[in-house]
Amino acid sequence: MNLQEIKSQHDIVGVIGNSVQLKKRGRLYSGICPLHKDTNPSLKVYPDRQFFKCYGCGKSGDVIDWIQLTRSVDFKDALKLLGNLPQAEVLFEPATKKHTVTMRPEIAEYWHILLGKKRTYFHNRGFANATIDREQFGWNGRQYVIPLWEGIPQESNLLAMKLRRDDELELGRLKNDNSNWDNKQLQNALKLIPKYILKGSYEPILYNSWAVENREEIWIFFGEFDAALATQLGLNACSPVHGAASWQLYWGETYLRAAKQIFIVPDKGEEKQGHRVKAMLGGCAKVYSFPEGPWKDFSEFILAGNYAEELRNGNGC
Ligand SMILES: [Zn+2]
Repeated sequence: MNLQEIKSQHDIVGVIGNSVQLKKRGRLYSGICPLHKDTNPSLKVYPDRQFFKCYGCGKSGDVIDWIQLTRSVDFKDALKLLGNLPQAEVLFEPATKKHTVTMRPEIAEYWHILLGKKRTYFHNRGFANATIDREQFGWNGRQYVIPLWEGIPQESNLLAMKLRRDDELELGRLKNDNSNWDNKQLQNALKLIPKYILKGSYEPILYNSWAVENREEIWIFFGEFDAALATQLGLNACSPVHGAASWQLYWGETYLRAAKQIFIVPDKGEEKQGHRVKAMLGGCAKVYSFPEGPWKDFSEFILAGNYAEELRNGNGC
C-alpha cells in the first residue's frame, strides 16, 4: 500500500472531526484549533485538497501531519496510529506505475501561442525563453498554464496542466459576494483559494522526470517553478506535482536508479517534508535549509542573486 492509498482511506475531515468540532462553511470546514490557544475557529479543513491550515498558529498539512502534531509522534508512528500498518515498512512497497488519463498536447501548444506578450510573467520569475518554449508555459485567456508532461516536454504524453489562480478575477468575485468587506478581509479570503488548480490526471506525477533519469546527481524540489528554474541553471531537477506527500517509491527505482547524490530542497519551513522524501529514498540524500534571508523557496533565493552552488555548503545527511 502506498502513501497515497493510505491517505485516501482516511478522509481528513473525519480524522480531524474525531477531536475537533467542525462546522461546514461552503467548501470547507472550520473549528477551534487544538494546537494553540484558539478563541476563533481558526482551523480550516479543505476536503477537496485533503489539507488543513490554522490561520492562528500557522500549522498546516495533510492527515498524517495532523496525527503527528496532535499526538506528538513521528511520521512512522502516525501511520501506525492511522491503523494501516502492522509495520511501517509496508509503506515502502513499490506502487505500480500507471497513467491512464492524458490530455491532447495541442491544448498546451495552443495556450503556449496565446501567451504572446504575457511571457513577461515568466521572465519575471527568472525563466529564459528557451525554458518557456520547451515547457510550453502558456496562457488560456484567463490563467497562466504549466503543462505537466510524462517525459520530455512536447515529445511525451501530456498528463495534466496546472492553472494559476487569476487574483483579479477572484477578488472581483469575492467583492461581489461580500460588499461589506474591507481590503484586508478580501486579501485574506483570496489566500484561502488554492493558488493552482490541476486539470487532467490526478495520478501522482514527477515533474521533469526526464531531467533526472540516469543522472548521478539529482535535485528534488517541491514546486514545478523551482524544478524548471533549477533545470535551466544546469541542475538535474524534478518535483512531485502533488507535493512531498505524493512521493512514490517507484520513482526512486524508475528515475533515480543511477543517482549517487541526491539534494532535497524544500521550501523554507517545510524541511519536515524533505525528510519524509529522504526516508522513502533511503541512502544518502541531503535535505537543505536555506541560509538566513528574505527568500522562502529556491526561485526567490536565486532571483535575489544567490547561486544554487551555495546550497551545497548547507547541512547534509
Ligand atoms: Zn492553531
